Order: sequence, then C-alpha cells, then structure tokens
Amino acid sequence: MKVRVGVNGYGTIGKRVADAVARQPDLELVGVAKTRPNFEARRAFERRIPLYLAGPGTAADFDAAGIRTAGTLADLLGRVDVIVDATPDKVGRENRAAYERAGIRAIFQGGEKADVAEASFSALSNYAACRGKRRLRIVSCNTTGIARAAAAIEPRWGVERWDVVLVRRATDPADSHKGPVNGIVPTLQIPSHHGPDVRTIYPELPITTTALVVPTTLMHVHVNHVRFRRVPGGRAELVAAFRETPRFRLFASWEHVEGTAQAMEVARDRSEGRGDMMENVVWEEGVRVDGSDAYFFQAIHQESIVVPENIDAIRAMMDLAPDGAASVAITDRALGLGRA
Ligand code: NAD
Repeated sequence: MKVRVGVNGYGTIGKRVADAVARQPDLELVGVAKTRPNFEARRAFERRIPLYLAGPGTAADFDAAGIRTAGTLADLLGRVDVIVDATPDKVGRENRAAYERAGIRAIFQGGEKADVAEASFSALSNYAACRGKRRLRIVSCNTTGIARAAAAIEPRWGVERWDVVLVRRATDPADSHKGPVNGIVPTLQIPSHHGPDVRTIYPELPITTTALVVPTTLMHVHVNHVRFRRVPGGRAELVAAFRETPRFRLFASWEHVEGTAQAMEVARDRSEGRGDMMENVVWEEGVRVDGSDAYFFQAIHQESIVVPENIDAIRAMMDLAPDGAASVAITDRALGLGRA
C-alpha cells in the first residue's frame, strides 16, 4: 500500500513537492491545503488535486472563484500518514500542534528553526539517523547544497576548514514584492545563519559562511574554499567525487554554461514541466586543487533543490527503503534526475 501524503502550503516549494510526491511509485498525493484561491489553487483544481482549506481560508472564497474544495485541513490531516508543511517561515511551527493532535508524521521546511523537528535532514548525509522519526525539517536550499557538497568531500578527505561566500538571489522569480532590484546587500551577521544550519547535519564541520544578496532571481552561487585533512590526488579526484555523488550536475567548459542564466536554460531545455534544476551545479573548469586547498563554485536553484530531499525524508520516516542510497535512487529515477 502506498504511503498517503498531504501538502500544507501550496506555494513555491509546496506545489513542487506535491508534484514530486505524485510521481513516486510508493507515495500517494492525497491533497494539498491552501488559504485562498489564486492561480496556484486554480492549477491544483484543474489537475484534479484535492484542495483543502487551510488557515483563515473559507469555502465561500473558493466557491466564488469556481474552485471546489474537498474539506478543511483537519480533514486532510485525518486522511494522510505524512503531512509536508510548506507554509511561509514560522507558520510551520504554529501548525505543529495540529499535526501532533492528528497523530501523523510531519515534515517542515528550512524557514523554521531547527528545534521544530526531532532532526534536520539531508538525504546524502543523515538518512539513516532520521529513519522512523515523527518530525523532520528539510534544511534550507543553501544548506541542502552545502550538505550535498559535504557528502561528496567529507568522507573522502576530511575537512580542516571550509569558507563559503554565498551570493544569494534577491527573491524567487514569481515574487514581485521583494528586492533588491539594484545594489548588493551584504549580510552583516558573520557567520551568516547558513554555517550553523549546516552543523545541524554535520555537527563537527569547521565551516564559516558569509553572504550577500544580489539583484537576480535565478539561483544562488556559492564560492567555496575547503582545506582538506587528507591531501587529494588533484583536481581530477575532486571533479570525480562530484561526478560520483548523486544530485550533482557538472558542466564542461565546451558547454559554454557561463553562469546561472545558461544553467537554468539547460533546466528549461530538458524539462517537460516547470524547468527546475534540482541538482547542485558545478563548473568543472572552476574546480581547483592546490595541495590540501580546494576551490570550487556551485549554483543552487532555490525553488527546487529541496524537493527530492522532501521525498527522501518521507521514505526515511516511514522506513520505505533499505537505506538512503536506495531512496535517493528511487526519487531521482521518478524525477528524471541523472548523475552528472
Ligand atoms: P511561498 O510563499 O511561495 O508559499 C507558501 C504558501 O503557503 C503560499 O501559497 C501561502 O499562501 C500559503 N500559506 C500562508 N499561510 C498559510 C497557512 N496558515 N496555511 C497554509 N498555507 C499557508 O513560500 P515558499 O518559498 O514555498 O517557502 C515555504 C517554506 O520553504 C519556507 O519555510 C521557506 O523558508 C522554505 N524554502 C523556501 C525556498 C525558496 O527559495 N522559495 C527554498 C528552500 C526552502
């Protein structure tokens, strides 16, 4: 029998997770919950995804828009084994009690503080430790990207020191309310919150992150300097490590993927859907190893990178796969993600 999954919050992350759930062989999308009718509610309705009322939403609002609802969030919670909360930052914590009352497992997103859940999750790093948990938090897009890179690097060479400068996108493409539209805004808190967040997955990782926000919507870019404990054979070894790790997409110089604009064009070219890039993007030519020091850039598609991790977190909680590698393989096959 398939595990029954609901999604509360049908925005940027929620609609992607819902679509991804529907594509998994062992999961069933029971429905999604929304507070108000909008273009996303219309999409769910037209795709016959049962739509439930959340927060202050009323059936009358949806009726007026010609969108039928299937019940309230409480009804949805009564029909699922797992709820994925993809509501805005801090709303997930407010919803936690309702999930507990319903006696179901819950997944929260990176906008919540780590203590909203029993553990923070990254599929390549701590799947085994998260098996059977009742509440998991998927770390943010940037943290997921760094944790994946750590999964490629840490077991092979160990990390003496890791500095990351995060060049962050201003906002998501569909959000016309935020900026900056001009100028570069440094995050004056040092380290930025990302380093401590990575340590919710890798408690001992000596990582320091600094961040600045730039006027783009396409992706984040991380500029990495890692000092290894054990000296690798050279850059070819590091490139090979990224190649061998699931959920990395490497670009060779002849492909002329000069930056995030072309990386997202690749995503759109290969897509049958909304043109997501769920893998970490690494430019081969930008990987450099000097003795025990390594440098590389990676780009992170903020709107989609956490989607496969949400799916693996469901499998970990429900113990649906023999191990993390098996879950990642099932997820990636269903989502059409290949190795680099
Ligand atoms: P979003 O604003 O695009 O979507 C949130 C949705 O929840 C909206 O449709 C909103 O109407 C709805 N909502 C608001 N209050 C609600 C309530 N009480 N009950 C149910 N639904 C409600 O936000 P998002 O970008 O999808 O972010 C969701 C979570 O994912 C946040 O924790 C965020 O930090 C995290 N996250 C976002 C990104 C990103 O770049 N967008 C990346 C990784 C993680």
